[in-house]
Parts: sequence; C-alpha cells; structure tokens
Amino acid sequence: MPSKILYVEDNPQNMRLVRKILTAAGYQVIEAVDGLSGIATAASQMPDLILMDVNLPDINGLEATSRMKASPELATIPVIALTANAMHGDRENCLAAGCNGYLAKPVMKNELLNTIALFLKTASEAHKQTETKVAAG
Ligand code: MN
Repeated sequence: MPSKILYVEDNPQNMRLVRKILTAAGYQVIEAVDGLSGIATAASQMPDLILMDVNLPDINGLEATSRMKASPELATIPVIALTANAMHGDRENCLAAGCNGYLAKPVMKNELLNTIALFLKTASEAHKQTETKVAAG
C-alpha cells in the first residue's frame, strides 16, 4: 500500500505541482482546499502524513494544525507546514502550533521528497516500537 498524503492547499498551481511530484514518487495524494475541510478530510481518511499550507482562506494552516494536534485520533499524524512567509520567527510559529516539520515555498522537489520520506520513516518506526511494546506487554 502506498503511503497516503493529505495536501491542504488553496492555490491550484501549487496543488498541481505537488500532486505531480508526489504521484510520480508513488504516493497516494488526497486534497483539501481550506483548513476546516483539511481537518475533516484528515479525520475521515487518516492519511500517513499531512502537508499544510499556512495561508488558507478560512482558518490558517497553523490553527488547523493545532486543532488536529488537540485531537487524540489525529495528533500522531506528522504535519509538515509549507509557507511562503520566509520571515524570521516563522519556523518557530509553525513548531509552536504543533507542526512536526517546516518547508519554505517555493517547494523544491528533492527537499520535499526527502522531508516526507524522513517523517514517514520516523512515524513507522514509532509505530513499530509501540507494537513491540504491546506484544511484549
Ligand atoms: Mn495558500
């Protein structure tokens, strides 16, 4: 089963570009165009990882991330924030909101794929450790 990635993005060009990169790399891509539908889609689809645009038309990506991190079902899904605001403090704001990672736009293909692979690997190792503990206990 390919890993399922939810991309929350309101800009159709960014959506198309990232979908193309991820699909070519063998990932299954699901999409949401704003923060609230992003949260709803995460809850119904349980993706392996979420790419979160920060500037969204309803609630922003940081607010959407904090709401998901407050939900026990969604809190363990890694969230990588994508932001065009390369301002000082931006990374800190993303991490404070509960984002696991952070990438500045424009998205660079190799950086995107490497970051996703790293977080998927970390998440699957954490999952295996939990399973081992359950089995041992
Ligand atoms: Mn946007």
